[in-house]
Amino acid sequence: MTDTPASPPLPAASYIHLDGPEPRLSFLKCKSCGTMFLEPERLACARCGSRGGFDAHEPKYEGTLHSYSIVHRSFPGTAVPFISAVVDIDDGPSLKGNLRGVPFDADRIDGAMRVRIVFDDALGRRDADGNAYISHFFEPLAAD
Ligand SMILES: [Zn+2]
Repeated sequence: MTDTPASPPLPAASYIHLDGPEPRLSFLKCKSCGTMFLEPERLACARCGSRGGFDAHEPKYEGTLHSYSIVHRSFPGTAVPFISAVVDIDDGPSLKGNLRGVPFDADRIDGAMRVRIVFDDALGRRDADGNAYISHFFEPLAAD
């Protein structure tokens, strides 16, 4: 691992785009029924079966916590604890990611809290060439 990335950071997921001044999310939205998908390409909608195509949809960067787990054991080399969460994005799909900025204590986590989506280095992870990744994270909206 090096301190200086070999090239600009890479997106940690296919729905994260780094083509502008700030990272952004983009999902596929079915032109027929509006269902959204995380993957970058689909031939047909898994909900309505339409092959009528998809629009790119950039969501609002806020949502509601749907569920979470405080992870105390993980793969070797992965720092614990962390909070793995699923968030229902206000005008988008449900998205999994790490929730940060809250205590690792279920008694102190509002299970339906409002969160914002932020982008940051993906916890220091690098590919074999030393390239960093940018990932999304959830933070409490009330933390401002
Ligand atoms: Zn559809």
